[in-house]
Amino acid sequence: MSTPLGFETPPRLRHFVEALDALLGPGRGPALDETRVVAQGSELLRELVSHDDWLPQQAAQPDPQYYRQYLLYRDPAARFSVVSFVWGPGQSTPIHDHTVWGLIGLLRGAEISQDYQRRADGRLEKAGEARRLETGVVTAVSPTLGDIHQVFNAYDDRVSIGIHVYGADIGAVDRSVFTPEGAVKPFRSGYANAA
Ligand code: FE
Repeated sequence: MSTPLGFETPPRLRHFVEALDALLGPGRGPALDETRVVAQGSELLRELVSHDDWLPQQAAQPDPQYYRQYLLYRDPAARFSVVSFVWGPGQSTPIHDHTVWGLIGLLRGAEISQDYQRRADGRLEKAGEARRLETGVVTAVSPTLGDIHQVFNAYDDRVSIGIHVYGADIGAVDRSVFTPEGAVKPFRSGYANAA
């Protein structure tokens, strides 16, 4: 199993991918039991991010200006993808959605995530307090759990890295970014290292 980056998949990541593959089975779309996938997938991701000794250097490089997303694994049937999210000091995402289930595990440093919800008039409002996700913590997003958020590196003087897992080839999914006023712009995240 090789990654799109051209290096061998680290054993810990391979183990995670194989376990998630077995958990998902042929299920996607309506056949998918999202509650079970999120619960058991979170356990698997918690194990993966409990060791910070496996992420290849190539997938841990920050960009001076923008946060980066490196594709670590893409399921051939696009049932899921695994991405390293590398935050330079002080970097943040726009407010965005996912449209599929997603798991976020902190490998290094910490992220701050603020959830949003849409009001009847289309404007966005903050949903609850911002949450700080420390190293080793796993959380989930999805259209049923709450799908709109903004994420920040919790640090302005060091790199943070999250391992994110999504129920699709997330770089190719048509998604949205939002302004707080509720303006919506089409968004495709792509990957720093793959098409
Ligand atoms: Fe997100």
